[in-house]
Amino acid sequence: MDKHSALFDTLVVGAGPAGLTAAIFARNKDLNLVVVEGREPGGQLRMLYPHKPVFNYPGSSQIAAGELANRIIAQARDSGIDMIEHHPVRNITLLADGCFQVDLDEQKLKAKSIILACGLGLFGYRRLGVPGEAQLTERSVYYTLSDLPQWKERKVAVIGGGNGAVDHALLLLEQGAAVTIIHRLAEFQADAASVAKLHERGSEILLGWKVVEFAVEGAEASTVTIVVEHSENKQRRTLSVQRVLINIGLQTTNELIERIPCARKNRLVVVGSEMQTSIPGIFACGDVVSFPGKTRLIVTALGEAATAVNSVERYLQRRENRMVLVLFPTRKLGFQLARSLSDAGYRTYLFVQSEEDLKHFGRLRGLSKENVITMQVSAPLPGFWDNIAVSLREAIKQARVIIYFIGSDFARLKVTGHGEEWAINPSNPTQIRLSFAEFVLGKLAAKGKSLWFNLGAGHHETSEAGEIFCYTRYGLTGLGKAFELTPGLRNFEVISICLTYLRNKGNGSAPAHCPNCVTEELNVVGQPLTRESDIVPFLLRRIGKLLDEAH
Ligand SMILES: Cc1cc2nc3c(=O)[nH]c(=O)nc-3n(C[C@H](O)[C@H](O)[C@H](O)COP(=O)(O)OP(=O)(O)OC[C@H]3O[C@@H](n4cnc5c(N)ncnc54)[C@H](O)[C@@H]3O)c2cc1C
Repeated sequence: MDKHSALFDTLVVGAGPAGLTAAIFARNKDLNLVVVEGREPGGQLRMLYPHKPVFNYPGSSQIAAGELANRIIAQARDSGIDMIEHHPVRNITLLADGCFQVDLDEQKLKAKSIILACGLGLFGYRRLGVPGEAQLTERSVYYTLSDLPQWKERKVAVIGGGNGAVDHALLLLEQGAAVTIIHRLAEFQADAASVAKLHERGSEILLGWKVVEFAVEGAEASTVTIVVEHSENKQRRTLSVQRVLINIGLQTTNELIERIPCARKNRLVVVGSEMQTSIPGIFACGDVVSFPGKTRLIVTALGEAATAVNSVERYLQRRENRMVLVLFPTRKLGFQLARSLSDAGYRTYLFVQSEEDLKHFGRLRGLSKENVITMQVSAPLPGFWDNIAVSLREAIKQARVIIYFIGSDFARLKVTGHGEEWAINPSNPTQIRLSFAEFVLGKLAAKGKSLWFNLGAGHHETSEAGEIFCYTRYGLTGLGKAFELTPGLRNFEVISICLTYLRNKGNGSAPAHCPNCVTEELNVVGQPLTRESDIVPFLLRRIGKLLDEAH
């Protein structure tokens, strides 16, 4: 099997300092992960300023950015982190099973959570856009110093006036190059201390001059003629150099961030203190994030990466844990229940039988922050099981809360004796619901205490002797048997509620009541339910107690 067809615990977008650190932390926590990088690993440090010294990285009073990046990359590779390089992530979408699909150009990956560490996006260098520039790019015109020895003792021009240009000019001076720095404005934007060093070290400085053209002298392009024009008096002059470094900033495209529907501010992803974005399951760190007081530095990116990974770990635990299966909900109560569960942050899997129900509950998606996943069970079993995604099978197996709306299909079953023998035909469409419930029962494998709610709507019939016969009760007899017979279900508490009883009571009509009405049992354990509208709060209370209180 292609290893990238796996379901990852987390997928990290970007292999700059933030993404690589997140990957190292995630690996240390034994998470199954992949890093996807659109260019080369190392981020801005390797792409933009590999030779520039970094002075503010604790542990090294001075280290070249490229060297620092190489060390982080080496550590990531040594930990066996899987990295896909030169493949930009184009889009991320939430799937019906609650996982994320990550689209690359020719590949789709799948992960339970995402860490966005894509900095300011995919960078390209800003170009001057003047005649001759495109023809000379990578011949004698460059945008980064990737091959420093080639610049040694050469006659070079650096174009730009920010920190990047000035720092690079200083570096080239150190290499014995004769440097002319050309900037279109009358003043540098770089730090005053660096500008002072430029003056001290004898760089030729052209302020207020704009490059208007490059021309090549000789077939080998060994010398470039730069035509510059004075910004005010428009006077032109030329100078000849061997190499040109253009450092006028970056052109970034962050289309990915614009495609993902998470909250943004100034094209950056808004995060909370746990590095969570507005989309549950997507976290972010590094230069891509926005929060009050955010500083764009290597060390802050690393700290945020560690926080993001801790949050991913908690999210995954909660995700596994905070999940509810709802089997064949009735429309009104089911809708209310699904919305409440979703709003309370539970991933809710709704299994419905008909196309109409699928459409009905499909409307919940937008409302309920994408926490509800609705699926149609129409195929005969076990065909359904064989055709669903592995992740969904896993979700069903690990479920610790199941809410089963008992329809009346059991009434059509051939039940012998007192329900101890069931003759369910799974390919019979009228019996799919019950057979699916039994099927799910047989698959459950979660450890720890679990809850199975039966919400029965079986009608009540009064016998000639005046006794009320409850069809819910009748149906539950067989299901109860299934619980007893499945040893793996010892941890299950089964709570059965008769909706018919509650509805009649709530209506003010004389309470229909069968001798063993299941609702009465709830009263015994101090959970009085007197109206149908009590059910959703009751379920949420019980589910919260089970899934949340231990964590
Ligand atoms: C000239 C300059 C000098 C600096 N000097 C210092 C300094 O001395 N000290 C300091 O602390 N900070 C410095 N910084 C800032 C520092 O470099 C950044 O804060 C840091 O790089 C942020 O790391 P990051 O991982 O968040 O983002 P980046 O380093 O930008 O890495 C993001 C990575 O994500 C990739 N990516 C983007 N989009 C996608 C996509 N769609 N799919 C896949 N991959 C994608 C990019 O290719 C990139 O590799 C400097 C910045 C510049 C520009």
